[in-house]
Amino acid sequence: MWSCGLYRLDITNKIHSHEGYMAKISINLKDGTVNKAEKQVTTIVGIDLGTTNSLIAFIKDGEPYAIKDQHGKHTLVPSIIHFDPKGDVIVGEAAKDHLVSNPERTIYSIKRLMGKSFGDVDQFDSFLGYEIIDEDTESLVKIKVDETFYTPTELSSKILQKLKRNAEKELKLEIQKAVITVPAYFNDAQRQATRDAGKLAGLDVLRIINEPTAASLAYGIGINREQSSVVAVYDLGGGTFDVSILEIQSGIFEVLATNGDTFLGGDDFDKVIVQHWMAALDLTEQQIDADKSLGQELRTQAEEAKKQLSSKSVFETTISGKSVSITKETFQSLIKPLVQKSITSCERALADSTLSISDIQEVILVGGSTRVPYVIEQVSAFFNRPAKHQINPDEVVALGAAIQADILAGNRKDMLLLDITPLSLGIETIGGLMDVLIPRNSKIPSALGRQYTTSVDGQTKLKVAVYQGERNLVSDNRKLGEFVLSGIPPMAAGMPKIEIQFLIDADGILRVKAKELRSEVNTEVEIKSTYGISEEDMARMLIDSLQHAEADMQIKVLQEAKNEANGILLASNKFLTQHRDILTDDEFEQTTSLIQSLATHVDSGTKDEINAAMQTLNTYTAPFAEKAMDKTIKAALSGKKI
Ligand code: AMP
Repeated sequence: MWSCGLYRLDITNKIHSHEGYMAKISINLKDGTVNKAEKQVTTIVGIDLGTTNSLIAFIKDGEPYAIKDQHGKHTLVPSIIHFDPKGDVIVGEAAKDHLVSNPERTIYSIKRLMGKSFGDVDQFDSFLGYEIIDEDTESLVKIKVDETFYTPTELSSKILQKLKRNAEKELKLEIQKAVITVPAYFNDAQRQATRDAGKLAGLDVLRIINEPTAASLAYGIGINREQSSVVAVYDLGGGTFDVSILEIQSGIFEVLATNGDTFLGGDDFDKVIVQHWMAALDLTEQQIDADKSLGQELRTQAEEAKKQLSSKSVFETTISGKSVSITKETFQSLIKPLVQKSITSCERALADSTLSISDIQEVILVGGSTRVPYVIEQVSAFFNRPAKHQINPDEVVALGAAIQADILAGNRKDMLLLDITPLSLGIETIGGLMDVLIPRNSKIPSALGRQYTTSVDGQTKLKVAVYQGERNLVSDNRKLGEFVLSGIPPMAAGMPKIEIQFLIDADGILRVKAKELRSEVNTEVEIKSTYGISEEDMARMLIDSLQHAEADMQIKVLQEAKNEANGILLASNKFLTQHRDILTDDEFEQTTSLIQSLATHVDSGTKDEINAAMQTLNTYTAPFAEKAMDKTIKAALSGKKI
């Protein structure tokens, strides 16, 4: 039995990823003409899609600028989405007001969930005020608001749409292309989810670049290709901290090491001030929990104190009519252990990079919390050199992304451009979906690997079909070739671990390797002649992908829900056959009917109906797994084999 039904495993395996400057071919997306000339007039924006705040920037007269929101006040757009009961979606500052009053309809920290399965996030889902769906620890998380299920990609796209609208209003032109930043530690699934969010927002995402790379570019480091440097980027935001060590050589940014703490940031600085004042005012946790507005007042005043202490030596205010104060010295002693934690991460990153302090040539500060003078002092002392903080630390990443966008637009003639892959390369996965391994605009040579598994029990052969193009369904893309991986020992669906590797050499020749990791069965093909494509065809494919972006994404999310449901149907039917004896007749009938209902929705339902039916089936059957476990343990104790 064989089929080309591959399932993507969420464990992704990145072989290597360097960043470089690249852009050779410019395409007028309106009329489809291909222009090899250096100059191109399209505006490409740079976007920092952050955990707490997001920003969009562009280049004007050669200089990067962050774009202000619709009121012309702030450049920072809080990464918060509120769904009001009428069905309207509110993003940014206006959504922030609903965090306390309406937590279950107000989504924040969505970046923490990008490309994650429930298994990855269950240790911190209590931190989030909204509902995360736990269907199956292997599948990607979803967020439920009323009766609608949203993926983190869909929610992030709402933030991107808001940024796009702000920019279009200010620049008075349509924004189609963007460079989006992600943390250096993001894996391939997280990067792909970010790319998809851009697509869903109607943006052609030319590149996904690392945040520390963008910050370096904003400081002009790495722009001159002759110059090489080793840079430490220390990024302390509202809720997360990371440090990256980059080596920059010949315009290529390589991440040597990253370290950090996904729950350390300015919010923790606020918390220690709150605790300090609670002690001074004799307030208990219970009193704060019972009085929401008192808690909110304490948090708001604490954040204000922290900000003012960046330039003043004492802060005084009243909380519920009582005076409180805090000095700079007290604040520093309160945050000392938190800052020390971040320095320990710097030590680890340095050790992982196998470099020593004296090898670091530049230190860059990123994130609002690096405005705290004590942080600047401690980081500079650790790296033994003044940390750069002249550029607004909230904007520095978006500004750097705008510089990268300008390079891609071909506006920086001094840049020597490397070869790029003109269209994305990927394989067909179950349901006819295109799974991109090497995205468009990747540097050549390039290599990437990812793990997949089978969807049918006992599958011994597997067809790997390779496609080129930007659409979500392979039938809309161009087939480059296919080959068969045979000799896989028969295993249950989901058991084989098949690694597919794409390697493009300096001549643009693509080699595809497939290997079943449990049995070591492997095969390899070289795809030569069909790889080339005329520039006119390429332009047409890119235009098609933009025109169909939203409809394509809808098909993709529906197909993904169907794939997930089919996996659950397979497992549930297997369970019913193997463990019929532990279920009462009622339970058996009810399970069968829920399975039937899910199968009907897979045939003809919407994405939300499929998700709801999956959730009902999973919730109902969850206790049976425990019963089955008890049965297995009892049998083992009595020496029986099940
Ligand atoms: P980010 O996630 O990079 O937008 O950083 C937001 C964090 O920076 C929040 O915790 C803010 O309270 C903090 N922040 C903003 N301005 C200041 C300031 N002047 N001094 C200290 N912290 C600040």
